[in-house]
Amino acid sequence: MAIAIPHRQLFIDGEWKEPARGKRVPVINPANEAVIGDVPAATAEDVEIAVEAAHRAFHRNGGREWSRASGAFRAKYLRAIAAKIKERSSELAKLEAVDCGKPLDEAAWDMDDVASCFEYYADLAESLDGKQRTPISVPMQTFKSYVLREPIGVVALITPWNYPLLMATWKVAPALAAGCTAVLKPSELASVTCLELAELCKEVGLPPGVLNIVTGLGSEAGASLASHHLVDKIAFTGSAETGRKIMTAAAQEIKPVSLELGGKSPIIIFEDVDIEKAVEWTLFGCFWTNGQICSSTSRLLLQESIAKEFTEKLVAWAKNIKVSDPFEEGCKLGPVVSEGQYEKIKKFIFTAKNDGATVIHGGNRPQHLKKGYFIEPTILSVEDTSIQIWREEVFGPVLCVKIFKTEEEAIELANDSQYGLAGAVISKDLDRCNRVTEAIQAGIIWINCSQPTFCQAPWGGIKRSGFGRELGEWGLENYLSVKQVTEYVSNDPWGWYQSPSKL
Ligand code: NAD
Repeated sequence: MAIAIPHRQLFIDGEWKEPARGKRVPVINPANEAVIGDVPAATAEDVEIAVEAAHRAFHRNGGREWSRASGAFRAKYLRAIAAKIKERSSELAKLEAVDCGKPLDEAAWDMDDVASCFEYYADLAESLDGKQRTPISVPMQTFKSYVLREPIGVVALITPWNYPLLMATWKVAPALAAGCTAVLKPSELASVTCLELAELCKEVGLPPGVLNIVTGLGSEAGASLASHHLVDKIAFTGSAETGRKIMTAAAQEIKPVSLELGGKSPIIIFEDVDIEKAVEWTLFGCFWTNGQICSSTSRLLLQESIAKEFTEKLVAWAKNIKVSDPFEEGCKLGPVVSEGQYEKIKKFIFTAKNDGATVIHGGNRPQHLKKGYFIEPTILSVEDTSIQIWREEVFGPVLCVKIFKTEEEAIELANDSQYGLAGAVISKDLDRCNRVTEAIQAGIIWINCSQPTFCQAPWGGIKRSGFGRELGEWGLENYLSVKQVTEYVSNDPWGWYQSPSKL
């Protein structure tokens, strides 16, 4: 299907601006490797003016035009953006699918989530007004104390390509709800829908500079944004490797960061499950979004007594997954995002085989697809848990299976990871599910499912999966600073020092 990629510029101070050096990054359709457009590539000069615009917008008119306006005022813009997303959701879904390769039905689902997330944070922006000046009980009656929740300032929002508009929204919506002004830097591998968000912001009349969107390379646009002295906080989603660079940049200016990084999450299947249902959740937990999910439950821990039957069914179901162009009816697995990712995943599979893992399904490009970055849903059985494929994040459609005997062994295997983003447990015994939930070291646990995510519930990891929480009320807190106000309410003098007049 031919989709026209709109020709856009950088979005700075409410206007489209050509990148200072005139550079652009090609947009490649991963399903056929064709160049279908380009997006502007910002450099340090562009980032400079974007951050200055955000800084001006934060302080304009003493903050009364945005940062110190009521939450209800800001909520109107968030709702207007949500309405525009809904109006254009079908077109946005197509742009997203052609840009990053995810099946069109999934992209359409993401656009619904984007609109809901803006609406949700509009509600929270309104309720923020009622949470200002909440009294704090202090033990001396001569004092009154309360807190003000204030926007943290200018925030840098740096996002990945697997859910291009949704990951941006998880940051943009709460940041604007809180009263921050922002510079968003989406991934160079999929920025098209984020530039469309800019167009929607223009249409709803968002005050200039409140949201600036600078596309371009991480090493240029991203790095200069992360190290800018006028940025008050960095919210980052991406790889652990880049997360480390972001922390290093932030450390120079003692700047807060929140990091949503990668994972290698376990899914534990006990012998009492309904096998067909558990098989479906296992596949969804790993192959949804073309296997490119940070919280992908890509380490399957399978109880020994059902291992043979479960694996046979798993393979049979995996064979049934339709791998095709994202626009084909019934597509359930599209191409991975880029040639770089395709080569990286193939190398992971090659190394896994050399390391002794056994491919029980997939491992190659599907024979019917000659072009595009397609990889079959791949299932590998693993004995030795020290090998790379068991320990490192693939970020592609690759599931590893390991057999366990007891609950204790399953928990030990699950926690033997540098990551701690998510985990899933599947069993009819809810007591066991609760025990395992408490024992798994992760920020998100699914019971009898894997992956469903709601914008009301907190999202984030522990260990090398990062820190800080997005979504829910926690997502708003990310962009707020708490100011303590304490007032002396007695008419009596404080009385610590003696007045010279009494001597
Ligand atoms: P990445 O780290 O390569 O890039 C993420 C963003 O950082 C991009 O916008 C990139 O341009 C930018 N960037 C790169 N180098 C930079 C630098 N030196 N300074 C500043 N910015 C820089 O990650 P990716 O490949 O886009 O995304 C995949 C990774 O993201 C995976 O590890 C995945 O697990 C993780 N992820 C995590 C979550 C989560 O919620 N925890 C969600 C989605 C993806």
